[in-house]
Amino acid sequence: MRYPPRSSPHSLSAIAVVAVLAAAVALAAATAFAPAAAARQADVGGPAIQTDPGAFGATASISAWADEADALIEAALADSAAWERLAYLTDTFGPRFSGSKNLERAIDWILEEMKADGLENVRAEPVMVPRWVRGREELMLLEPHERRLDILGLGGSIGTGPGGLVGDVLVVGSFDELAERADEARGKIVLWNVPFTSYGSTVVYRSQGAIRAAEAGAVASLVRSVTPSSMYTPHTGNSAYDENVPRIPHAAITMEDAMMMQRMQDRGQTIRIRLQMEDYWLPDAESANVVGELVGTEFPDEVVVLGGHIDSWDVGTGAMDDAGGCVAAWEALRLMKDLGLRPRRTVRVVMWTNEENGMRGGNAYRDAHRDELHNHILAMESDAGVFKPQGFGFTGSDAAFDIISQIGKLLDPIESGTIRRGGGGADIGPIMDEGVPGMGLNVDGTRYFWYHHTKADYVDKLDPHHVGLSVATMAVMAFVVADLPQRLPR
Ligand SMILES: [Zn+2]
Repeated sequence: MRYPPRSSPHSLSAIAVVAVLAAAVALAAATAFAPAAAARQADVGGPAIQTDPGAFGATASISAWADEADALIEAALADSAAWERLAYLTDTFGPRFSGSKNLERAIDWILEEMKADGLENVRAEPVMVPRWVRGREELMLLEPHERRLDILGLGGSIGTGPGGLVGDVLVVGSFDELAERADEARGKIVLWNVPFTSYGSTVVYRSQGAIRAAEAGAVASLVRSVTPSSMYTPHTGNSAYDENVPRIPHAAITMEDAMMMQRMQDRGQTIRIRLQMEDYWLPDAESANVVGELVGTEFPDEVVVLGGHIDSWDVGTGAMDDAGGCVAAWEALRLMKDLGLRPRRTVRVVMWTNEENGMRGGNAYRDAHRDELHNHILAMESDAGVFKPQGFGFTGSDAAFDIISQIGKLLDPIESGTIRRGGGGADIGPIMDEGVPGMGLNVDGTRYFWYHHTKADYVDKLDPHHVGLSVATMAVMAFVVADLPQRLPR
């Protein structure tokens, strides 16, 4: 194992923390935090933080929550429970593609575990999801030498028909280059050999490649995997068709093979391949968003939502994308419960379904909760892997940004309190569009796209300590926002 789980040297002190906290909470309740606030200033680290009186109520200082924050951080780092839970989930149920039995078995298990944890209002909210099935896929290089190359069909691709198709490859490096060479593309297989710059700017060749190649008369489309690094690993992902353009098969090849074909073309060599894909669609299937809560003491109808997406691609085990985000949010809520920290508002964990190839879960959540979106105080998503957390990207008003930045100070001890402008997540996008402030967990992204949507997305790529830090970061932010005397302003 690359990252052995840490032992738990803090198990005794965790019990002590609970006792201290119980006393602290009792004191706080008796004093409405005010006198305690000054005494706690020293705990926060760095300069004392003052802000607009009112934002934090009578305390006028975020340091009033320093004890709760420290307790959540200590509990999250005391053992490797979150990593173990993530390992169990991904090892036991495997990849959780929309429409698969694996996904529904994982959801059923999570519901049972959440109830066993003592979380409240645990439920499955039904969602119908699309069902694309990867059949047998094979790419044979025929010239200049004969060899089978690894591929992964891109989500939603049509198949080639049983006989497959044979054609010559035209390698291009951009949409512009294909436009210039459009007369060469007819009847060929276009390969988009686009080096990774950022995910956003490179992924358009995966999502739009089949449309643009078909517009130029190509019979199939291949894309260099969207990744900065490769050990001969193809990366899948979703792709689109346009109803006004013929549908052609669309698959990812490895970085290595894309660069090889580029070299072959540059030498003037003919590149001939046979592509066979037996991918197909089935009718929509039943799935669900998973929900669990800790109901608020003072404003139970006001909700702070945090979560990730429980579905994954059909390859690997979706540990980074996005079981890690789901488990981090889940563990954040469990720690609040176990420590007896119940905030003024409700904290709700949501694990959305079908993010990867349909976004049905995020849209269904918005529709099911439309009447209470005005009481959604904040939505938080982790969907970039639970690597070492750095902070959050926040989308909301200036007034809210200031408060979120102050809360970030509570995370300075674990270096995860940097709040940047802009951020959110695919699953919370639909409710952010309705005005709910949103934030995404920012992590060290160095390695995420090495494994993203590949057979290598396993839990061994994640460090138990980093997973714990991600739990702590989400827990502190969610708890304090939920416990502010006044709602986070919009
Ligand atoms: Zn994801």
